[in-house]
Amino acid sequence: MTKTLVAFLLASFVLAFDVSAQGKKVYISVDMEGISGVVGDDQTSAGGAEYNRSRKLMAEDANAAIRGAFEGGAAEVVVNDSHGSQRNLLPEDLDPRARLISHSFKRHGMVEGLDESFDAVIFVGYHAKADSPRGLFAHTGSGVVKDVQVNGKSAGEGGLNTLMAQWYGVPVVMITGDDVAVEQQKEWTPGIRGVVVKRAINMRAVEGKSPAEARREIQAGAKESVAASRKVARERLAAYKVRMQLRNFTIPEVATAFREIQLVAPDTVEFTRDSMPDAYRIIRVLYRFINPD
Ligand SMILES: [Zn+2]
Repeated sequence: MTKTLVAFLLASFVLAFDVSAQGKKVYISVDMEGISGVVGDDQTSAGGAEYNRSRKLMAEDANAAIRGAFEGGAAEVVVNDSHGSQRNLLPEDLDPRARLISHSFKRHGMVEGLDESFDAVIFVGYHAKADSPRGLFAHTGSGVVKDVQVNGKSAGEGGLNTLMAQWYGVPVVMITGDDVAVEQQKEWTPGIRGVVVKRAINMRAVEGKSPAEARREIQAGAKESVAASRKVARERLAAYKVRMQLRNFTIPEVATAFREIQLVAPDTVEFTRDSMPDAYRIIRVLYRFINPD
């Protein structure tokens, strides 16, 4: 090894060490139903008349959170596209300082890539859980799920993703979405910063803030919550007992092919895992990767 190479390696090490000591690493999971300005079916699925417009709106709410995170002390931001195909965000539309995780073929879906190395998690564009009487496009995972319970507590996407963040010891510091999504998240993380970008009148109609105002609030909220974030101890339960009620009998019937999955009612299955990432992976397989037809 030459002296120059040794000096270079030493310099790289010092630089790498410096970055980790000074800047935070922030994880942003971005869904679409709770994005400012999104209100209709034709906006949330690829091929819908206004889909291309809503993916730009999604990128702008994400960018507001990214800007705020960097202002609040982030040195690194990773964005995970968490809606449907998970290929909604165009990399060219995102703040170039962030990295983007794309495509839905993931073990951990909405929290793919999250691990102990992060300092804070932000949920952008989230929605109410399945079977909520109010909340724009309320659902959990996909339309086939009626309810998911972990150790007896009903969890929407925000709840499940929070259990994953707790497993890794990373605090969830902010959520944006409609008022129902923000309220439901407070059952999991009482002190969380919530940015309500629209008020759900029912499951379809909303009273929305202007996207410009919503982004201003998202940026300010991300800045403050990232600056105030502190790593927390990993919260790992002895067991994760999952009960999933579906809206059909087909998925539970197929699921019984796996010995550890018990059919407890014609529409309901139960299983237990000793790690949340393992439990999350199975939940995702059940609602997403079994064709019920
Ligand atoms: Zn969702």
